[in-house]
Amino acid sequence: MSRKIEIFDTTLRDGEQVPGCQLSTEEKVVIARELELLGVDVIEAGFPISSPGDFLSVVELSKAVSIGVCALTRSKKEDIDVAAEALHHAKRGRIHTGIGSSDIHIKTKFNSSREKVLEQGVWAVSYAKAKGYEVEFFAEDAGRADLAFLAQMVEAVIAAGADVVNIPDTTGYCLPHLYGKRIQYLFEHVKNIHKATISVHCHNDLGMATANTMAGLIAGAGQAEVTINGIGERAGNTSLEEIAMIIRTHKDLDLHTNIVSERLYGVSNLVSDLMRMPVQPNKAIVGANAFAHSSGIHQDGFLKNSENYEIINPSDVGVPTSSIVLTARSGRAALKHRLELLGYQPSKPELDQLYEAFLTVADEKKNVNDDDLMTLAANTPLLVQK
Ligand SMILES: [Zn+2]
Repeated sequence: MSRKIEIFDTTLRDGEQVPGCQLSTEEKVVIARELELLGVDVIEAGFPISSPGDFLSVVELSKAVSIGVCALTRSKKEDIDVAAEALHHAKRGRIHTGIGSSDIHIKTKFNSSREKVLEQGVWAVSYAKAKGYEVEFFAEDAGRADLAFLAQMVEAVIAAGADVVNIPDTTGYCLPHLYGKRIQYLFEHVKNIHKATISVHCHNDLGMATANTMAGLIAGAGQAEVTINGIGERAGNTSLEEIAMIIRTHKDLDLHTNIVSERLYGVSNLVSDLMRMPVQPNKAIVGANAFAHSSGIHQDGFLKNSENYEIINPSDVGVPTSSIVLTARSGRAALKHRLELLGYQPSKPELDQLYEAFLTVADEKKNVNDDDLMTLAANTPLLVQK
């Protein structure tokens, strides 16, 4: 049977850390409701102790949705107390606590030792667990941690009651096959690992967040931490829409999510608008050009059979249709296709004549639009709109 991957969306926590992209609580509620309809399993709603705004967001999102709502904390009593209070109305609340696991974080961020951070992490999990919520533990900078120590830490926090253990590549440093091996190592060396869900949280500093997340899931992780449009600190997080569509497209992986993929494009636009953060046109899945074909060879092949150049049907992600963009590199097949959409059925000589005129216009303009085509057609004797 296909294995379910939980989708943990952190658009409203990690994603919202993007400078200049802060959202009001009302806007967060709008996005959270859309994420619920999208089929996300858990929403990370904020870091309650960090500001009154984050506290309020966790409170309001807990009231607004029925799916899991998660609050971030450090391994500190006051953080966990405040998070537990903010989650009071959650139907399914989760406290996400943790501490650094790499030697660089242990030494230069915490000025501590492996033994001490391990002890503090275990204490934080037990303390959070006693609040009655689900507990997720993050081993910060796990991508650079000593593997044997990481395994020891994971085993200890699971024994202390962690329901989920997050193995973040906080700095976006890992290579996909090595990150996958890290997760595999944990499955092979942590005795109680099947008592918890292993989660992957990857950053995109080297453009490998999605690849690393997939490597972790294939190696056995059961939860992916993602954001809409891949937004997040620095170069961003793993993009939700990419993970959902990789899993949907690659049936051979035998994985599934609850994501209603037809809603992806709409949610992407909503987040982009509210955060005033445009999506790059060549962004996978949701970029403006993701289903646009402009070269003549591709257009001809696409019009013969869309699967020649598309592995995803645009309607599967909520994009109404593929677009054939007319440029100076387009061929007769594309021109004929666009003319037919406008109601013209040019004969071969008419098309030849139009194509010459079209190339002249296309050399002057980047994109030839419907108005230009109507003008061209009007100047071609005998060609009538049906
Ligand atoms: Zn992060």
